[in-house]
Amino acid sequence: MEFIDLKAQYAVLRDEIAVRMQKVLDHGQYIMGPEVKELETALAAHTGAKHCITVASGTEALLIAMMALDLKPGDEVITTPFTFAATAETIVLLGGVPVWVDIEPDTCNIDAGKIEAAITPRTRAIMPVSLYGQCADMDEINAIGARHGIPVIEDAAQSYGASYKGRRSNNLSTFGCTSFFPSKPLGCYGDGGAIFTSDDALAQAAREIRVHGQSARYTHTRVGVGGRMDTLQCAIVLAKLGRLDWELRRRHEIGAEYHRRLAALNLTTLTVRPDRDSVWGQYTVRVANRAHVQAVLAEAGVPTAVHYPRPLHRQPAYEKYGDRDSCPNSLAAAEEVMSLPMSADLSDADLDRVVAALSAAVGVRAQ
Ligand SMILES: *Cc1c(COP(=O)(O)O)cnc(C)c1O
Repeated sequence: MEFIDLKAQYAVLRDEIAVRMQKVLDHGQYIMGPEVKELETALAAHTGAKHCITVASGTEALLIAMMALDLKPGDEVITTPFTFAATAETIVLLGGVPVWVDIEPDTCNIDAGKIEAAITPRTRAIMPVSLYGQCADMDEINAIGARHGIPVIEDAAQSYGASYKGRRSNNLSTFGCTSFFPSKPLGCYGDGGAIFTSDDALAQAAREIRVHGQSARYTHTRVGVGGRMDTLQCAIVLAKLGRLDWELRRRHEIGAEYHRRLAALNLTTLTVRPDRDSVWGQYTVRVANRAHVQAVLAEAGVPTAVHYPRPLHRQPAYEKYGDRDSCPNSLAAAEEVMSLPMSADLSDADLDRVVAALSAAVGVRAQ
């Protein structure tokens, strides 16, 4: 069984993808071809955001969003240490300082109740991560941002398609930044990403920064990057869109089924708040004695992964920011989290195998 079954998805979409790719090869506009705009229009409509700007990766999306906000050296960005390195890397690349706020143990998302205490006169942005596919308390975070005049950037790399109070992830704050890395909920076949915003001026800034800060050809109004997404990769995402809503429904079904069947076992499933859903970018549980459980599952042919074994405030490159003994919930989660096979194409038989192997490894919950 695959941890994320991209081959099964490709088998279904093979013809659609071939037609879409052939069209790009025939028209030859490999950079900024018509599929780029077509994808941006489709994703803006799907998320409800006014603007979508495709970019070279999720990392580039975060970088360009912060450049559009004119992040300056020494500016502070409040974020969680329990995330992928790209979240903090982009802050540091611009000379900014990540300020860690701990997570809630039951969702593993940033604890909105702890953000205000971390605000200083140097705070320039708040960057919650929609970890594992579920949004953080975005309305509370937006309200804090509004009170202090601080923009909010959602790192939505794992949550494309998630719902929050009837709205979509990526359309909840100043910026939403997603990734089309192949294993994300909406992936291409290489690197890709997108920035979403409903602010016209910020959208214009992001568009210019994406192509070397050009406001017109060879007029470099600002410093930018080479941050475009290839036309071919846009064509591949377009080919997947027809199946996306089915895939999201299937992810919800599989997540609900895991939740129901793992409830009896001696492990902790994560909480999904009632006003939102998770697209289960990862289906992650917390388990004591994780190394043993992973070994038993591997023996049974069930692949697992750990997202993430070490929070960023304990990583060599980032521990100089803040206190490495802070954020105890993040430290505890890093010891216990384990992600199970998850994708829209996970079969019922594979789900049965995962649950059986896991119950053999951890036993049932004591009554
Ligand atoms: C994957 C990921 C990114 C980076 O996306 P890339 O497309 O790989 O650059 C950023 N943040 C989080 C939380 C991610 O999971």
